[in-house]
Amino acid sequence: MNDTLLEVSGVSKSFDGFKAINNLSIQIAEPELRAVIGPNGAGKTTFMDIITGKTRPDSGHVVWGERNISLLGMSEADIANEGVGRKFQKPTVFEAQTVRQNLAMALKNPRGPLAVLLHRKTPSNAARIEGIAAEIGLTDSLTRIAGELSHGQKQWLEIGMLLAQEPRLLLVDEPAAGMTVEEREKTTDILKRAAKTRAVVVVEHDMEFVRRLDCKVTVLHEGSVLAEGSLDHVTSNPKVIEVYLGR
Ligand code: ADP
Repeated sequence: MNDTLLEVSGVSKSFDGFKAINNLSIQIAEPELRAVIGPNGAGKTTFMDIITGKTRPDSGHVVWGERNISLLGMSEADIANEGVGRKFQKPTVFEAQTVRQNLAMALKNPRGPLAVLLHRKTPSNAARIEGIAAEIGLTDSLTRIAGELSHGQKQWLEIGMLLAQEPRLLLVDEPAAGMTVEEREKTTDILKRAAKTRAVVVVEHDMEFVRRLDCKVTVLHEGSVLAEGSLDHVTSNPKVIEVYLGR
């Protein structure tokens, strides 16, 4: 059963009087794969900044988990400890370390005291690293130096490092940017697999990539939800065609 994990309701945020986010309401279930699309300046980055605690909204609510706690006012570190992971556009891995060492370092930094306790009861680090490597398609690259990986492989490694932190919600910013066609295909597989057991929200420009994700789509425009549903549903909406596709 899918339960609501994140409930953003009536959130607004202005910068110097300009409404970047305007009465935005979005619900994300667990598990779920969701694509958030919209033209430049639609508010996608600010949306992620608000969820992760980087930006404080002027009004509205951001409610999390079965305890219905508010993420507003919590520090970025505390929100991360709650299980919100964020993948920025550029890959950030330890270039001089192997893939295995990168994943091991991510495991060594569990996301909270509870995770440390649970850690002792869960499979060994070696088994966990191998499990994550399989999830991100890097089983054959565990001994390779991360700096020698392709752009796509570095992105997958960073996704793996985030998965090692056991997020309940993973926010991913334009993962397909700069990837080859084959890398894009593998990335959709990785994200779909990851979203079977957690919430994954993908902010993306590339419509072909969004089509491959084959998930519910939320279209943002001027800081609000313009349309929501399947990609075919939203792209047949005349308002979306006008503002997003520019026709
Ligand atoms: P997107 O990620 O969809 O391109 P953003 O969330 O980055 O959109 O931006 C939404 C709007 O808010 C844009 O018009 C942008 O210029 C403005 N904006 C975002 N952050 C700031 C900021 N820190 N100061 C001023 N304006 C900002």
